[in-house]
Amino acid sequence: MATQMNIPFFNYQALYKNQRDDLLKVMDEVCSRGAYILQRDVEEFEKNVGEFIGAKHVVGVANGTDGLIIALRAAGVQPGDEIIMPTHTYIATAASAHFTGATPVLVENGPDHMVTAKAMEKAITPKTKFLMPVQVNGRTCNMDEIMALAKKHNLKVIEDSAQALGSKWKGKNAGTFGMAGMFSLYPAKVLGCFGDGGLVVTNDDQVAKKVRLLRDHGRDEEGRVVEWGLNSRLDNMQAAVLNYKFKGYPQEIERRREIAGMYQEGLGDLSQLTLPPGPNADGDHFDIYQNYELEADQRDELKTYLKEQGIGTIVQWAGTLVHQFKTLGFNQSLPIAEKMNERYLMLPMHVALSNDEVNYIIEKVRAFYKA
Ligand SMILES: *Cc1c(COP(=O)(O)O)cnc(C)c1O
Repeated sequence: MATQMNIPFFNYQALYKNQRDDLLKVMDEVCSRGAYILQRDVEEFEKNVGEFIGAKHVVGVANGTDGLIIALRAAGVQPGDEIIMPTHTYIATAASAHFTGATPVLVENGPDHMVTAKAMEKAITPKTKFLMPVQVNGRTCNMDEIMALAKKHNLKVIEDSAQALGSKWKGKNAGTFGMAGMFSLYPAKVLGCFGDGGLVVTNDDQVAKKVRLLRDHGRDEEGRVVEWGLNSRLDNMQAAVLNYKFKGYPQEIERRREIAGMYQEGLGDLSQLTLPPGPNADGDHFDIYQNYELEADQRDELKTYLKEQGIGTIVQWAGTLVHQFKTLGFNQSLPIAEKMNERYLMLPMHVALSNDEVNYIIEKVRAFYKA
Protein backbone atom coordinates (compact mmCIF):
# COMPACT_ATOMS: atom_id res chain seq x y z
CA MET A 1 0.00 0.00 0.00
CA ALA A 2 1.36 3.40 -0.97
CA THR A 3 1.33 6.00 1.77
CA GLN A 4 -1.31 8.69 1.52
CA MET A 5 -0.66 11.28 -1.19
CA ASN A 6 -2.20 14.72 -1.59
CA ILE A 7 -3.23 15.31 -5.20
CA PRO A 8 -5.40 18.40 -5.71
CA PHE A 9 -7.59 18.38 -8.80
CA PHE A 10 -5.67 21.31 -10.20
CA ASN A 11 -2.36 22.73 -9.05
CA TYR A 12 -1.76 26.31 -10.15
CA GLN A 13 1.01 26.83 -7.62
CA ALA A 14 3.09 23.87 -8.78
CA LEU A 15 2.75 24.90 -12.41
CA TYR A 16 3.90 28.45 -11.59
CA LYS A 17 6.79 27.28 -9.44
CA ASN A 18 8.24 25.25 -12.33
CA GLN A 19 8.45 28.34 -14.56
CA ARG A 20 8.69 31.16 -12.03
CA ASP A 21 12.11 32.57 -12.92
CA ASP A 22 11.36 32.74 -16.63
CA LEU A 23 7.88 34.18 -16.12
CA LEU A 24 9.11 36.95 -13.85
CA LYS A 25 11.57 37.95 -16.58
CA VAL A 26 8.82 37.97 -19.20
CA MET A 27 6.56 40.17 -17.06
CA ASP A 28 9.38 42.49 -16.07
CA GLU A 29 10.31 42.94 -19.69
CA VAL A 30 6.73 43.90 -20.64
CA CYS A 31 6.45 46.41 -17.78
CA SER A 32 9.85 47.88 -18.58
CA ARG A 33 8.62 48.49 -22.11
CA GLY A 34 5.32 49.91 -20.80
CA ALA A 35 3.55 47.73 -23.34
CA TYR A 36 0.07 46.95 -22.04
CA ILE A 37 -2.66 47.25 -24.68
CA LEU A 38 -2.55 45.77 -28.20
CA GLN A 39 1.23 45.68 -28.39
CA ARG A 40 3.54 43.37 -30.27
CA ASP A 41 3.14 40.46 -27.83
CA VAL A 42 -0.54 40.17 -28.73
CA GLU A 43 0.31 40.24 -32.43
CA GLU A 44 3.00 37.61 -31.97
CA PHE A 45 0.71 35.38 -29.99
CA GLU A 46 -2.03 35.65 -32.61
CA LYS A 47 0.49 34.74 -35.29
CA ASN A 48 1.89 31.81 -33.28
CA VAL A 49 -1.54 30.28 -32.70
CA GLY A 50 -2.56 30.85 -36.33
CA GLU A 51 0.45 28.90 -37.55
CA PHE A 52 -0.12 26.15 -35.00
CA ILE A 53 -3.75 25.47 -35.90
CA GLY A 54 -3.69 26.48 -39.54
CA ALA A 55 -6.10 29.42 -39.25
CA LYS A 56 -5.80 32.53 -41.39
CA HIS A 57 -6.92 34.97 -38.69
CA VAL A 58 -6.53 34.81 -34.93
CA VAL A 59 -7.75 37.69 -32.77
CA GLY A 60 -7.02 38.02 -29.04
CA VAL A 61 -10.01 38.97 -26.89
CA ALA A 62 -10.63 39.52 -23.18
CA ASN A 63 -12.13 36.09 -22.50
CA GLY A 64 -13.71 33.16 -24.27
CA THR A 65 -17.29 34.17 -23.54
CA ASP A 66 -16.76 37.58 -25.16
CA GLY A 67 -15.08 35.69 -27.99
CA LEU A 68 -18.28 33.76 -28.72
CA ILE A 69 -20.44 36.88 -28.53
CA ILE A 70 -18.07 38.74 -30.86
CA ALA A 71 -17.85 35.78 -33.26
CA LEU A 72 -21.65 35.49 -33.42
CA ARG A 73 -22.05 39.21 -34.02
CA ALA A 74 -19.34 39.22 -36.68
CA ALA A 75 -21.13 36.30 -38.33
CA GLY A 76 -24.34 38.32 -38.53
CA VAL A 77 -26.51 36.93 -35.73
CA GLN A 78 -29.91 38.64 -35.39
CA PRO A 79 -32.24 38.89 -32.38
CA GLY A 80 -34.63 35.93 -32.39
CA ASP A 81 -32.24 33.57 -34.19
CA GLU A 82 -32.06 30.08 -32.72
CA ILE A 83 -28.63 28.63 -32.03
CA ILE A 84 -28.37 24.87 -31.48
CA MET A 85 -25.83 23.68 -28.92
CA PRO A 86 -25.38 20.76 -26.50
CA THR A 87 -26.70 20.96 -22.95
CA HIS A 88 -23.47 19.35 -21.69
CA THR A 89 -21.51 22.58 -21.81
CA TYR A 90 -20.57 25.57 -19.73
CA ILE A 91 -23.25 28.18 -19.15
CA ALA A 92 -21.05 30.58 -21.17
CA THR A 93 -21.97 28.85 -24.44
CA ALA A 94 -25.66 29.57 -23.90
CA ALA A 95 -24.98 32.99 -22.39
CA SER A 96 -23.15 34.06 -25.55
CA ALA A 97 -26.28 33.35 -27.58
CA HIS A 98 -28.46 35.11 -25.02
CA PHE A 99 -26.38 38.30 -25.06
CA THR A 100 -26.72 38.65 -28.83
CA GLY A 101 -30.51 38.50 -28.51
CA ALA A 102 -30.59 35.00 -29.93
CA THR A 103 -32.10 31.90 -28.29
CA PRO A 104 -29.92 29.00 -27.17
CA VAL A 105 -31.55 25.67 -28.11
CA LEU A 106 -30.15 22.78 -26.09
CA VAL A 107 -29.77 19.20 -27.26
CA GLU A 108 -28.49 15.77 -26.18
CA ASN A 109 -24.90 14.56 -26.49
CA GLY A 110 -23.54 11.23 -27.74
CA PRO A 111 -21.79 8.43 -25.85
CA ASP A 112 -18.36 10.11 -26.11
CA HIS A 113 -19.92 13.21 -24.46
CA MET A 114 -19.83 15.15 -27.74
CA VAL A 115 -22.86 16.67 -29.45
CA THR A 116 -23.95 14.84 -32.60
CA ALA A 117 -25.37 16.09 -35.89
CA LYS A 118 -28.31 13.75 -35.36
CA ALA A 119 -29.29 15.44 -32.09
CA MET A 120 -28.83 18.87 -33.65
CA GLU A 121 -30.94 18.04 -36.70
CA LYS A 122 -33.97 17.16 -34.57
CA ALA A 123 -33.93 20.67 -33.06
CA ILE A 124 -33.89 22.60 -36.35
CA THR A 125 -36.80 25.01 -36.89
CA PRO A 126 -37.33 27.80 -39.43
CA LYS A 127 -35.68 30.17 -36.92
CA THR A 128 -32.47 28.15 -36.64
CA LYS A 129 -29.52 30.14 -38.01
CA PHE A 130 -26.46 28.72 -36.25
CA LEU A 131 -25.01 25.44 -35.03
CA MET A 132 -22.65 25.80 -32.10
CA PRO A 133 -20.85 22.48 -31.50
CA VAL A 134 -18.79 22.36 -28.30
CA GLN A 135 -15.41 20.65 -28.52
CA VAL A 136 -15.73 19.55 -24.94
CA ASN A 137 -12.94 17.99 -22.85
CA GLY A 138 -10.39 18.68 -25.59
CA ARG A 139 -12.02 16.32 -28.08
CA THR A 140 -13.44 17.42 -31.45
CA CYS A 141 -16.95 16.43 -32.59
CA ASN A 142 -17.56 14.47 -35.78
CA MET A 143 -17.28 17.63 -37.86
CA ASP A 144 -17.97 15.90 -41.20
CA GLU A 145 -21.53 15.26 -40.07
CA ILE A 146 -22.00 18.66 -38.43
CA MET A 147 -20.67 20.59 -41.44
CA ALA A 148 -22.84 18.47 -43.78
CA LEU A 149 -25.90 19.26 -41.65
CA ALA A 150 -25.06 22.96 -41.72
CA LYS A 151 -24.73 22.88 -45.48
CA LYS A 152 -28.00 20.98 -45.94
CA HIS A 153 -29.98 23.54 -43.92
CA ASN A 154 -27.93 26.61 -44.86
CA LEU A 155 -26.76 27.25 -41.28
CA LYS A 156 -23.61 28.93 -40.03
CA VAL A 157 -21.27 27.11 -37.65
CA ILE A 158 -19.52 28.83 -34.75
CA GLU A 159 -17.39 26.43 -32.72
CA ASP A 160 -17.11 26.66 -28.97
CA SER A 161 -13.63 25.17 -28.96
CA ALA A 162 -12.82 26.81 -25.61
CA GLN A 163 -11.36 23.53 -24.34
CA ALA A 164 -9.74 22.29 -27.52
CA LEU A 165 -6.70 24.27 -28.69
CA GLY A 166 -4.71 21.71 -30.72
CA SER A 167 -7.44 19.07 -30.80
CA LYS A 168 -8.19 17.67 -34.25
CA TRP A 169 -10.79 15.79 -36.28
CA LYS A 170 -9.26 13.97 -39.26
CA GLY A 171 -6.15 16.13 -39.02
CA LYS A 172 -8.01 19.46 -39.04
CA ASN A 173 -7.93 21.65 -35.94
CA ALA A 174 -10.89 22.38 -33.71
CA GLY A 175 -11.96 25.97 -34.22
CA THR A 176 -11.20 26.01 -37.96
CA PHE A 177 -14.24 24.19 -39.37
CA GLY A 178 -17.00 26.77 -39.20
CA MET A 179 -17.28 30.48 -39.88
CA ALA A 180 -15.37 31.14 -36.64
CA GLY A 181 -14.12 29.36 -33.55
CA MET A 182 -13.21 30.42 -30.02
CA PHE A 183 -10.51 29.35 -27.58
CA SER A 184 -10.49 30.24 -23.89
CA LEU A 185 -7.23 31.06 -22.13
CA TYR A 186 -8.74 30.81 -18.64
CA PRO A 187 -6.09 29.58 -16.15
CA ALA A 188 -7.40 25.99 -15.96
CA LYS A 189 -7.54 25.56 -19.73
CA VAL A 190 -4.72 23.58 -21.34
CA LEU A 191 -3.14 26.84 -22.44
CA GLY A 192 -4.04 29.15 -19.58
CA CYS A 193 -2.89 32.65 -18.71
CA PHE A 194 -2.84 34.45 -15.35
CA GLY A 195 -6.42 35.64 -15.49
CA ASP A 196 -8.95 35.86 -18.32
CA GLY A 197 -8.17 35.69 -22.00
CA GLY A 198 -9.55 34.29 -25.23
CA LEU A 199 -9.13 34.01 -28.98
CA VAL A 200 -11.43 34.17 -31.98
CA VAL A 201 -10.21 32.35 -35.08
CA THR A 202 -11.57 32.47 -38.61
CA ASN A 203 -10.52 31.92 -42.20
CA ASP A 204 -13.01 34.52 -43.42
CA ASP A 205 -11.44 37.95 -44.09
CA GLN A 206 -14.70 39.86 -43.55
CA VAL A 207 -15.46 38.12 -40.26
CA ALA A 208 -11.90 38.74 -39.07
CA LYS A 209 -12.16 42.43 -39.88
CA LYS A 210 -15.40 42.68 -37.95
CA VAL A 211 -14.00 40.77 -34.97
CA ARG A 212 -11.07 43.20 -34.77
CA LEU A 213 -13.46 46.14 -34.77
CA LEU A 214 -15.81 44.61 -32.21
CA ARG A 215 -13.05 43.87 -29.70
CA ASP A 216 -11.76 47.46 -29.72
CA HIS A 217 -14.68 49.92 -29.49
CA GLY A 218 -15.53 49.57 -33.16
CA ARG A 219 -12.35 51.42 -34.13
CA ASP A 220 -10.46 50.72 -37.33
CA GLU A 221 -6.66 50.83 -37.75
CA GLU A 222 -6.72 54.63 -38.00
CA GLY A 223 -8.72 54.89 -34.78
CA ARG A 224 -11.94 55.94 -36.52
CA VAL A 225 -15.09 54.53 -34.98
CA VAL A 226 -16.93 52.70 -37.75
CA GLU A 227 -19.45 50.78 -35.64
CA TRP A 228 -20.54 49.99 -32.09
CA GLY A 229 -17.93 47.88 -30.39
CA LEU A 230 -16.83 46.46 -27.06
CA ASN A 231 -13.76 46.78 -24.92
CA SER A 232 -12.60 43.17 -25.16
CA ARG A 233 -8.90 43.02 -25.86
CA LEU A 234 -6.44 40.35 -24.79
CA ASP A 235 -4.05 42.07 -22.37
CA ASN A 236 -0.55 42.37 -23.74
CA MET A 237 0.92 41.07 -20.46
CA GLN A 238 -1.19 37.92 -20.76
CA ALA A 239 -0.08 37.55 -24.38
CA ALA A 240 3.58 37.74 -23.32
CA VAL A 241 3.01 35.03 -20.71
CA LEU A 242 1.14 32.95 -23.28
CA ASN A 243 3.94 33.30 -25.85
CA TYR A 244 6.33 31.92 -23.27
CA LYS A 245 4.02 29.03 -22.33
CA PHE A 246 3.15 28.28 -25.93
CA LYS A 247 6.73 27.16 -26.65
CA GLY A 248 6.12 24.07 -24.55
CA TYR A 249 2.55 23.51 -25.70
CA PRO A 250 3.00 20.44 -27.95
CA GLN A 251 4.88 18.69 -25.13
CA GLU A 252 2.07 19.59 -22.69
CA ILE A 253 -0.46 17.98 -25.01
CA GLU A 254 1.75 14.90 -25.33
CA ARG A 255 2.03 14.60 -21.56
CA ARG A 256 -1.74 14.82 -21.16
CA ARG A 257 -2.19 12.12 -23.79
CA GLU A 258 0.36 10.00 -21.93
CA ILE A 259 -1.59 10.39 -18.66
CA ALA A 260 -4.84 9.51 -20.48
CA GLY A 261 -3.07 6.39 -21.77
CA MET A 262 -2.06 5.47 -18.21
CA TYR A 263 -5.65 5.85 -16.98
CA GLN A 264 -6.85 3.77 -19.93
CA GLU A 265 -4.31 1.05 -19.20
CA GLY A 266 -4.92 1.06 -15.45
CA LEU A 267 -8.73 1.37 -15.39
CA GLY A 268 -9.91 0.09 -18.77
CA ASP A 269 -10.97 -3.32 -17.45
CA LEU A 270 -13.36 -2.01 -14.75
CA SER A 271 -16.98 -2.71 -15.69
CA GLN A 272 -18.18 0.01 -13.27
CA LEU A 273 -16.51 2.74 -15.34
CA THR A 274 -16.98 4.08 -18.84
CA LEU A 275 -13.72 5.79 -19.77
CA PRO A 276 -13.35 8.51 -22.40
CA PRO A 277 -11.88 7.16 -25.64
CA GLY A 278 -8.14 6.47 -25.25
CA PRO A 279 -5.50 8.59 -27.00
CA ASN A 280 -5.13 6.05 -29.81
CA ALA A 281 -8.70 4.75 -29.90
CA ASP A 282 -9.21 5.73 -33.53
CA GLY A 283 -7.46 7.58 -36.31
CA ASP A 284 -10.08 10.32 -36.69
CA HIS A 285 -9.71 12.01 -33.31
CA PHE A 286 -6.69 13.72 -31.81
CA ASP A 287 -7.75 14.55 -28.25
CA ILE A 288 -5.79 16.94 -26.05
CA TYR A 289 -7.52 15.89 -22.80
CA GLN A 290 -8.43 19.27 -21.40
CA ASN A 291 -10.34 17.08 -18.96
CA TYR A 292 -10.38 13.38 -18.21
CA GLU A 293 -14.14 12.97 -17.83
CA LEU A 294 -15.26 9.40 -17.20
CA GLU A 295 -18.56 7.86 -16.16
CA ALA A 296 -18.71 5.94 -12.90
CA ASP A 297 -21.15 3.74 -10.99
CA GLN A 298 -21.67 5.09 -7.45
CA ARG A 299 -20.14 8.33 -8.64
CA ASP A 300 -20.74 10.33 -5.47
CA GLU A 301 -19.39 7.58 -3.20
CA LEU A 302 -16.31 7.24 -5.40
CA LYS A 303 -15.75 11.00 -5.24
CA THR A 304 -15.98 10.97 -1.43
CA TYR A 305 -13.71 7.95 -1.16
CA LEU A 306 -11.06 9.53 -3.40
CA LYS A 307 -11.23 12.72 -1.35
CA GLU A 308 -10.51 10.70 1.79
CA GLN A 309 -7.49 9.28 -0.02
CA GLY A 310 -6.24 12.82 -0.77
CA ILE A 311 -7.36 12.90 -4.41
CA GLY A 312 -9.32 15.89 -5.73
CA THR A 313 -11.93 15.24 -8.43
CA ILE A 314 -14.53 17.50 -10.01
CA VAL A 315 -17.98 17.08 -11.53
CA GLN A 316 -17.94 19.40 -14.50
CA TRP A 317 -20.29 22.44 -14.50
CA ALA A 318 -20.93 21.60 -10.81
CA GLY A 319 -23.19 18.78 -11.98
CA THR A 320 -25.85 20.92 -13.66
CA LEU A 321 -26.55 20.76 -17.38
CA VAL A 322 -27.54 24.03 -19.04
CA HIS A 323 -31.17 23.00 -19.64
CA GLN A 324 -31.52 22.26 -15.91
CA PHE A 325 -31.15 25.95 -14.98
CA LYS A 326 -34.82 26.65 -14.37
CA THR A 327 -33.94 30.13 -13.08
CA LEU A 328 -32.87 31.01 -16.63
CA GLY A 329 -36.22 29.96 -18.02
CA PHE A 330 -35.29 26.54 -19.38
CA ASN A 331 -38.03 23.97 -19.06
CA GLN A 332 -37.12 20.91 -21.01
CA SER A 333 -36.11 17.32 -20.47
CA LEU A 334 -33.11 15.69 -22.15
CA PRO A 335 -33.10 12.18 -20.66
CA ILE A 336 -29.91 10.82 -22.26
CA ALA A 337 -27.78 13.75 -21.09
CA GLU A 338 -29.45 13.72 -17.67
CA LYS A 339 -28.72 10.04 -17.15
CA MET A 340 -25.09 10.39 -18.21
CA ASN A 341 -24.73 13.49 -16.08
CA GLU A 342 -25.32 11.48 -12.92
CA ARG A 343 -22.22 9.41 -13.72
CA TYR A 344 -19.72 12.06 -14.85
CA LEU A 345 -16.55 12.55 -12.86
CA MET A 346 -13.23 14.17 -13.78
CA LEU A 347 -9.94 12.74 -12.53
CA PRO A 348 -6.90 15.03 -12.11
CA MET A 349 -5.36 15.83 -15.51
CA HIS A 350 -2.53 18.36 -15.74
CA VAL A 351 1.17 18.44 -16.45
CA ALA A 352 2.26 18.86 -12.83
CA LEU A 353 1.07 15.27 -12.16
CA SER A 354 3.85 12.69 -11.73
CA ASN A 355 3.56 9.07 -12.88
CA ASP A 356 3.57 8.02 -9.21
CA GLU A 357 0.56 10.25 -8.59
CA VAL A 358 -1.31 8.89 -11.62
CA ASN A 359 -0.59 5.33 -10.44
CA TYR A 360 -1.79 6.21 -6.94
CA ILE A 361 -5.07 7.53 -8.39
CA ILE A 362 -5.50 4.35 -10.43
CA GLU A 363 -4.77 2.21 -7.35
CA LYS A 364 -7.36 4.05 -5.26
CA VAL A 365 -10.09 3.90 -7.92
CA ARG A 366 -9.48 0.15 -8.20
CA ALA A 367 -9.52 -0.20 -4.42
CA PHE A 368 -12.93 1.53 -4.27
CA TYR A 369 -14.42 -1.06 -6.64
CA LYS A 370 -12.43 -3.82 -4.89
CA ALA A 371 -10.86 -4.64 -8.25
C1 LIG B 1 -14.10 27.90 -20.41
C2 LIG B 1 -15.25 27.74 -21.33
C3 LIG B 1 -15.94 28.83 -21.88
C4 LIG B 1 -15.74 30.26 -21.45
O1 LIG B 1 -14.45 30.73 -21.55
P1 LIG B 1 -14.01 31.97 -20.63
O2 LIG B 1 -12.65 32.30 -21.15
O3 LIG B 1 -13.98 31.48 -19.22
O4 LIG B 1 -14.99 33.05 -20.83
C5 LIG B 1 -16.94 28.59 -22.81
N1 LIG B 1 -17.26 27.34 -23.17
C6 LIG B 1 -16.64 26.27 -22.65
C7 LIG B 1 -17.02 24.90 -23.14
C8 LIG B 1 -15.64 26.43 -21.70
O5 LIG B 1 -15.05 25.34 -21.17
